[in-house]
Amino acid sequence: MNQHARPDERAIPFIDVAAQRRRLGRAIDDAIARVLAHCQFIQGPEVRALEAELAAFCDARHAIACSSGTDALRLVLMAWGIGPGDAVICPAFTFCATAEAVAVCGATPVMADVAAETFNLDPLSCERAVATATRLGLKPRAVIPVDLFGLPADHDAVAAVAAAHGLRVLDDAAQAFGATYKGRRLGRLADATATSFFPAKPLGCYGDGGAVLTDDDGVAERVRSLRVHGAGADKYDAAHVGMTGRLDTIQAAILLEKLKIFSEEIDARERAAACYAAGLADIATVPRVPQQSTSVWAQYTIRLASGRRDALAAALKVQGIPTAIYYAKPLHRQDAYRDFPVADGGAPVSERLAEEVLSLPMHAYLDRPLQDRIIAAVRRALAS
Ligand SMILES: *Cc1c(COP(=O)(O)O)cnc(C)c1O
Repeated sequence: MNQHARPDERAIPFIDVAAQRRRLGRAIDDAIARVLAHCQFIQGPEVRALEAELAAFCDARHAIACSSGTDALRLVLMAWGIGPGDAVICPAFTFCATAEAVAVCGATPVMADVAAETFNLDPLSCERAVATATRLGLKPRAVIPVDLFGLPADHDAVAAVAAAHGLRVLDDAAQAFGATYKGRRLGRLADATATSFFPAKPLGCYGDGGAVLTDDDGVAERVRSLRVHGAGADKYDAAHVGMTGRLDTIQAAILLEKLKIFSEEIDARERAAACYAAGLADIATVPRVPQQSTSVWAQYTIRLASGRRDALAAALKVQGIPTAIYYAKPLHRQDAYRDFPVADGGAPVSERLAEEVLSLPMHAYLDRPLQDRIIAAVRRALAS
């Protein structure tokens, strides 16, 4: 950084992981030191403690810490015995890991469209995806609603489609741990919920991590076994074909410290989102949170007519303001997923959103002067 730069000319991080690190400083160092002292690097006491805290935080019966958000999704699908010949409905507008977890199980992800206002699974398209899967000779087994950008999907509507067709619901809450729907935190709104602790997620660790949340005792027990190679009663007696799916003790220790300030951080994100909305709602389509939900604002994503979106991103970049496009291509337009089926009616909303979305810097340490600078820059760029 130029040492003569004024404070308001600091380079702006898109997600400021370092600010939180500075805030927690010693607490994190001490937590790691405790693990280095007891040396139980795998399944140490911090893992159990974290699982209890996570379950309490979202009022779920079970929390099972695991190696990543993707593995959390995969462990649940494995526990449900989903495999070749099975169809699992996914939104077309999401991070690829949602469909990847399905494909690695040998099952077929069937892509459904999303609603433009929420970026989340459109229940009508989900219904059509079930029909598409059946017509193709697949057995529809499950649906994975994603709580994109931190906003809960319409879980009651998804549950109704699932009940009508005998599907299980796996909530991909990788971006939305801590968010609420009808007064309840995500974690027990579906048959099972998967979340991620990737560093840039609202609750992140210092490496890879994730968790499965569920009220189902049988699924919890199976997932606990699958994450340690499908171990049975004895560690060296394999009851199932499993995987290495554990969370490291050091990451659990870090998460325990971060969880202590998580509610405060959610409030700070909420304030930052309100500030963006007040500053930008008259010149761009800003996200609106439905009455029954709260978001944890993993991303603050605005929409603009496609040509303007790219011009805005370029103008902000020149001023040192980073932006990101989540997602530039819907899943069914990506090489790895283009051969999987799309719901009848296609996914036109997902395709349009890919051309219109732009995510602005968002995290719990976005201070007001910085945000004012971002808002002013966006307004200037859109006025010209
Ligand atoms: C990040 C993310 C995942 C995967 O989480 P990892 O911990 O990176 O494996 C899955 N689904 C969605 C929607 C995500 O954003």
